[in-house]
Amino acid sequence: MTHPFLDLTPLSAAHFASIEDRVARLLSTEQDVVIMQGEALLPLEGAIRATAGPGTTALNVITGPYGQTFGDWLRDCGATVVDLAVPFHTAVTAEQIREAFAEHPEIDFVSLVHAEAATGNTNPVAEIGEAVRAHGALFYLDAVASIGAEPVLPDAWGVDLCVIGAQKAMGGPAGVSAVSVSERAWARMAANPRAPRRSYLSLLDWKERWVDGGRKALLHAPAQLEMLALEACVERIEGEGLDAVMGRHSSAAAATRAGAAALGGGLEPYVYEAAEAAPVATTLRSPSGVVASELVARALAGDPALPLAAGGGALAKEMIRVNHYGPDATPGTVRNSLTALGAALAEKGLDVDLTGALRAAEAAWR
Ligand SMILES: *Cc1c(COP(=O)(O)O)cnc(C)c1O
Repeated sequence: MTHPFLDLTPLSAAHFASIEDRVARLLSTEQDVVIMQGEALLPLEGAIRATAGPGTTALNVITGPYGQTFGDWLRDCGATVVDLAVPFHTAVTAEQIREAFAEHPEIDFVSLVHAEAATGNTNPVAEIGEAVRAHGALFYLDAVASIGAEPVLPDAWGVDLCVIGAQKAMGGPAGVSAVSVSERAWARMAANPRAPRRSYLSLLDWKERWVDGGRKALLHAPAQLEMLALEACVERIEGEGLDAVMGRHSSAAAATRAGAAALGGGLEPYVYEAAEAAPVATTLRSPSGVVASELVARALAGDPALPLAAGGGALAKEMIRVNHYGPDATPGTVRNSLTALGAALAEKGLDVDLTGALRAAEAAWR
């Protein structure tokens, strides 16, 4: 008897390459796109270790928890790291990036997270890209939480290393990921004696043995199930249309934000400016005196399938996350999330206007 997950015919190199091409089209990029056989942390780490070394001065922008991790990897590589941390309720500006360049002209690497699912903000990458290009630094971008939710355009923005994963707005598998690599980035890696080689972390191995070989032979057996899931997920996005998928996410964010504000009870959007709020997920500040993780637990008690979570670490006290991404970027999920949060706030004795919240959410869904 055959099993849907087992007994699969081997995934050919040509099939693997065709999935890479489809991912490249999602990114509108002419750069090499390498699919990596692991969760997005694999190319995120691999790209830093490949390009950074003791001679590197990196501007590491911290707008959420991932920026901290990138700074740690950069320091591991021996790079000098200039951290630029901005409060999680806002985004970094191109002006702040230019100021950092003026203060530290030796910066030759910039790491940035596009959208932060963990903190709910999104950064103006197009404008930042102009500043980075003008300065001539290598530009590394974590677009895991933005791909599928808002435009991600590495070529137009001058991104040298753009990492994506399928598990957020793409509604796909978590076990494979991809990175687009510019010629400049390949050259930086080739010149870096410390870049991983003959290693699972190595991007150069894929360059030399896969890309330069005309993508004829894979380096090892591919993660077949995950590759098929990635293909199916890209196919589904192509069927709906990338613009429509992104539209669902921006509508879900606008509706959640408007609904939460109208709900009252002291609930507020965590990110002050709507333009700086990520389409992938909406973060809310819990009312004073209400512990966010307790509120979320109450809301989930009635409907455990809702995409609600408290913030990580110290943020668990004050931040509520509505992860309205992938299949959850729908009016129904937004409505049910607001209803559950409203009920949890009411149980706490707070005064909420659920009818007003649902009306505001519906009006904001464009
Ligand atoms: C989700 C996400 C990742 C992937 O990390 P996981 O915690 O394993 O899901 C990387 N970067 C960003 C910005 C993300 O939101």
